[in-house]
Formats: sequence, structure tokens, C-alpha cells
Amino acid sequence: RASQVTVLGLGDMGSAIARTFLDRGHRTTVWNRTASKALPLVDAGATAAATAAEAAAASPLVVVCLLDGAAVDKVLNAVDAAVAGKVLVNLTSGSPQQARANDRWAGARGAEYLDGKIMGDPPYVGTPHVMFPFSGSRTAFEAHGPMLRELGTVVYHGEDAGSAAVEFMAQVAVGYEILIGFLHTLRLVQAEGVDVAEFAERAANNVAALPPLLTSIGNAVRAGEYPPDLGPLKVQAALMDDLISHRESIGVEAVRMREVKGLMDRRIADGFGAQGFSSLFELLAKS
Ligand code: NDP
Repeated sequence: RASQVTVLGLGDMGSAIARTFLDRGHRTTVWNRTASKALPLVDAGATAAATAAEAAAASPLVVVCLLDGAAVDKVLNAVDAAVAGKVLVNLTSGSPQQARANDRWAGARGAEYLDGKIMGDPPYVGTPHVMFPFSGSRTAFEAHGPMLRELGTVVYHGEDAGSAAVEFMAQVAVGYEILIGFLHTLRLVQAEGVDVAEFAERAANNVAALPPLLTSIGNAVRAGEYPPDLGPLKVQAALMDDLISHRESIGVEAVRMREVKGLMDRRIADGFGAQGFSSLFELLAKS
């Protein structure tokens, strides 16, 4: 069913979103600070508005996808009362605090607010390969969920507008924490004269075992009961010594390995040497 939608912000991501809406037959109004970026979309059937406020006034659903929170503040200030009675969907990356502030801003102008975050690349928008956590107004999500699902794989995280950003920040952190370790390990591999690309291909097969492990660690942490995942800690700790000394012998960063070993030693000293890697969670207190 064709709907009307406005997209504010036509960078790589905003353009991909607007194009997806156009491809699905929706009447799409677009606006961008640099107006020329609207031209390819106008060629594809979009209507370009002269100002952000005009664009927002054109549709019941107003999607914002800009560089950052500062850009959102600037554009929303220009839109101001034009958002009354609309559903405002902000897909700009940012913090839970920013999302909650936008929610209050929208509420004060008689708009409903949905915050969404994007995990994936612009060319994949419109396919299930892009993940969109959403949170905020439940009625808005129920009304516009079918259309938002056209953008990718959508999960609704509840009425707190900040929840989608919490999910986004945590998921992005998982990626960076794993990948910086991977980069350090490529240093080690290269220093040992192994082809890094071939190693990476074998490592990709190796980490195929990670998804079920993440799930079982999540369950162990929730239950507070720790099976010997990756083996008992007292066996793993001995291996860690070898991993650390190998890295240090060729001048490769071992700080995270030493962190892991330190946690294992503490856990073993506390009498939990038969438990697994997941039990280190007990030592990771909120600082
Ligand atoms: P781009 O740099 O391609 O586009 C940025 C957009 O923000 C442009 O429309 C730009 O306008 C606008 N903008 C920046 N500052 C201002 C301002 N002060 N006032 C008005 N408009 C402003 O970024 P993307 O489209 O790639 O990213 C958009 C959002 O999507 C970001 O929050 C990003 O984190 C997120 N995202 C992007 C991914 C990606 O791979 N590209 C992946 C996942 C999330 P102008 O054209 O005039 O400069």
C-alpha cells in the first residue's frame, strides 16, 4: 500500500532510504542541506522541498537521517512546529540521551517519536541484511511498522526512546572489541611470516563457532551458572601464559590477553577454576 513519507538528509544513508521508499512505490518528499543531492532522487520520482519545514509538512511520516546529533538539532529547530501531528522517525546514530531528548522535543510539538538505529551499509538498505532496532512510541510503531520493515530487519525494543540506541551502542561495541583484537592478531600472524589474507580466511571459518557460544554465554550470565565453556578456567589460564609470551616475544600487543589472564587467576583463586570463560563476568563490576 502506497504511503507518503518525507526523508530529511540525503547523504549515503538517507539517499538509500529515500530510494528504497521510492522503489516500493511510496510518495516520497526529500530535503537536504546541499540541495543538489536531491536531484538523482527527483529523477527517480521524489518531490524535492525547498526547506526542511516544507518537507516535514508534506507527509505524516518524517524520517531523519543526518550525520550526527548536532545536525539533527539544527534541522529539527528549522522544522519546529511543522512536525505537529506527525510521526518523527530519527535514524541518525547517537546516544540514548539524545534519543530521549528528541522524544521530549517531539512531544512538546504534538508529534510522536520513534528512534531507530542502522546497522549495515547503504547498498543493503531494503534487504534483510540491514538491522534496525527501534524504540519509542508504540502506537507510531504499530502504525508505521510495515513501512519501516521495508528498510530491513526491524526489531522494536519498547517505549523508552533510548532503548534502540542502547542496543546499537552495545552491538557496535561487540564488533569493535572483537575486531581490534583481530587486527592485533594479524600483526602477530604477519610477524610470523604467515599470509594474513589466507589466515583471515581460515579465521573466518574458525569464528563460525562463535554464534552458538555467544548465545550460551548469554544464557550462563543470565542464570549465574557457568559451565566450563572453552574448558575449565584452570586449563585455559595455562594456555593464556603461552599466548601472552608468544605475543610479547614478537612485540605484539597483549594487553587484552593479560586482562583475561588476570581475571582467570582471580577467579581460580576464588575457587572457581572448574567454571568456564563466561564466569569472568562475575568480576566485571560496574565502575
Ligand atoms: P553522510 O556523510 O553521507 O551524510 C550526512 C548527512 O548529514 C548529509 O545529508 C549532510 O548534509 C547532513 N548534515 C551534516 N551536518 C548537517 C548540518 N549541520 N545541517 C544539516 N544537514 C547536515 O552520512 P551517512 O548518510 O552515511 O550517515 C547518516 C547517518 O547514518 C549517520 O548517523 C551514520 O552514523 C548512520 N549510518 C551510516 C552508515 C553508513 O555506512 N553510511 C551505516 C550505519 C549508520 P550535506 O549533504 O548538506 O552535507
